[in-house]
Amino acid sequence: MSSVLISEVGPRDGLQNCKAVMPTEAKKRWIAALADAGVQEIEIGSFVSPKLLPQMADTGEILDFAVTIPGLTVAVLVPNLKGAEAAIAGGAHKITLPLSVSETHSLRNIRRTHAQVIDEARAIAALVKSLPERKRPHFEGSLSTAFGCTLEGPVPEATTLRCAEQLMAAGCDEVGLSDTTGYGDPASVRRLIRAVRGVIGAENLTGVHLHNTRGLGLANALAAYDEGITTFDGSLGGLGGCPTAPGASGNVVTEDMVFMFEAMGISTGIDLRKLMATREMVAEALPGEELYGFTPKAGLPLGFKGEPVPAPVAAG
Ligand SMILES: [Zn+2]
Repeated sequence: MSSVLISEVGPRDGLQNCKAVMPTEAKKRWIAALADAGVQEIEIGSFVSPKLLPQMADTGEILDFAVTIPGLTVAVLVPNLKGAEAAIAGGAHKITLPLSVSETHSLRNIRRTHAQVIDEARAIAALVKSLPERKRPHFEGSLSTAFGCTLEGPVPEATTLRCAEQLMAAGCDEVGLSDTTGYGDPASVRRLIRAVRGVIGAENLTGVHLHNTRGLGLANALAAYDEGITTFDGSLGGLGGCPTAPGASGNVVTEDMVFMFEAMGISTGIDLRKLMATREMVAEALPGEELYGFTPKAGLPLGFKGEPVPAPVAAG
């Protein structure tokens, strides 16, 4: 049976776009419950200025907690070398540096030009390589706004390819594609995956981060799967989006994506009932925050993985 890796980004991408701040203890309970549901990779936070994002102020404490969960790959978003140092000190297994293909968005989001982000990538890669091999986190460069930008509009494919090559040359282990603004469609997803893999190699692009802004999140995920992508970011309840991309909201809902893959016979390793049960924890910790998702609202189909089926009505 084929399988995919679902990477839950709710505790980072989701929460950073919520007005309310989830209490630290609630975050820990939620992350533990996600892992218990079979989620194998969780982006638990980002090391950014607490003044900029008070929702992420406790990332150090959350990281200390998350690395104690057996078998969980703990991912952290880092905007710069300083963030990477903190993530590495805390034992993160994976660190992700975002690079907005739209330079306008890059300046707005992390106040850096492309050249400056590539410099950070080089410095982070040097830090990673200075560590003993078993202590090195996996270092991903994530191309955000790769399918278009709410500030610049379309972004030239040539820029995306150049950024991908530069991130690999700077020492990233891998490059990811992010549809930060929900501009992507199945055809553009296929096209860009092929183009990027054409310049950096298929093995160096295995993950995508998709949004459901225009309802194409799952269609795009399926297109990416058909292209051989194996890691899919999702956010529980579709929490989050991007605070610096006006009008863009709604990460792909993890529950709906897990349902799609499992229904197709593609293993995620996730217990969908347990996953959906964690929505209650989020609703309780973030009163008033809207949670999205079709599967949680409709319920599982009768007969789906042990869901009871009513006894047949006797004929005649
Ligand atoms: Zn997102």
